Amino acid sequence: MRALRLPAWKSEPELVEVPDPVPGPGQVVVKVGGAGACHSDLHLMRDFTGGLPWEPPFTLGHENAGWVHAVGAGVTGVEPGLPVAVYGPWGCGVCDRCRLGVENYCENPAGAPVPGGGGGLGLDGGMADLLLVPDARLLVPLPDGLDPVAAAPLTDAALTPYHAVRRSWAKLPPGSTAVVIGVGGLGHLAVQILKATTAARVIAVDTREQARASALRHGADQAVAPGERAAAEIREATGGRGADVVVDCVGAQETLALAGTVARMLGDVTIVGIAGGALPVTFGSPPYEVSVQSTYWGTRPELIEVLDLAARGLITAEVTTFPLERAVEAYHRLENGEISGRAVITP
Ligand code: NAD
Ligand code: ZN
Repeated sequence: MRALRLPAWKSEPELVEVPDPVPGPGQVVVKVGGAGACHSDLHLMRDFTGGLPWEPPFTLGHENAGWVHAVGAGVTGVEPGLPVAVYGPWGCGVCDRCRLGVENYCENPAGAPVPGGGGGLGLDGGMADLLLVPDARLLVPLPDGLDPVAAAPLTDAALTPYHAVRRSWAKLPPGSTAVVIGVGGLGHLAVQILKATTAARVIAVDTREQARASALRHGADQAVAPGERAAAEIREATGGRGADVVVDCVGAQETLALAGTVARMLGDVTIVGIAGGALPVTFGSPPYEVSVQSTYWGTRPELIEVLDLAARGLITAEVTTFPLERAVEAYHRLENGEISGRAVITP
């Protein structure tokens, strides 16, 4: 089969022929219908030189959906042809966290297929004709009305901001404001998730005019360009109080500075993007009792909730499809800010 492989750190991915995966006991092979191109893959190609608990080479693609293709010995409950979303963070499956479906925070990394990763992150991912999934528990059957191309980005580009927003639900009653910084793949879904699950006013911030327009199309109440006036505009829009919740889907020095400036006292700043910035903290800045957290992906139960939101039409990933032969071009277009929503590879 064909596979788009990252051969080494600081390298371009290569489309090569590899053997078809064969499912061992308990394992499932999925025929890939869609694999999302995430900005994290650009960080893998450009920024990392190690420091992660796994190494290239591996096949890219950690946002995957498709159809069950073959099942290994002992697998019950899923049969060939079943459309499925693949839950991405592959934990050990048996620690206290994994038993609750919180495999993104598995506490027994030595027992996981690869510590802190999964298919496309240390192990072979979905930018290939077939994807080996180590356990059937990692598959969520697609609800009616959702196909694998629409579902693929939901497994990360929606699940990650869903987890971030969900943990802040209590701070988003009517009258509150949420700010989403960076409204690309994750951010355009963060906006929709906020509108679908809270009563907050939503302000989107992005350098790109196209992304700000997309955020407004997807329900944002206001879109703001970063720069000298951005913090003042957000303060004005909130009657001077600031934003109850800021979700930073960039994580750069300047976006964290903005997040810390516009947060409301007692609010949340949640750092989702991994652009490597730092948030300076001094007495009263960020404002008093702002909670700051970084989040990694989401839980298995939350993926079921995200798929339900999408099947009911409450959130929709804006998708541009590319065949596997054009996956490298899709990444270049993502890097150049030419993708609206998410690029999805359709092997
Ligand atoms: P993307 O490229 O699709 O979107 C990023 C958006 O941010 C773009 O619209 C871009 O114009 C905008 N942007 C860039 N710099 C900006 C700035 N200084 N101010 C305002 N806007 C700015 O990327 P994506 O796939 O949505 O990923 C976003 C980030 O989230 C990446 O760093 C990615 O690695 C990370 N990520 C984290 C997790 C997690 O679990 N924490 C999961 C997936 C992705
Ligand atoms: Zn990702």
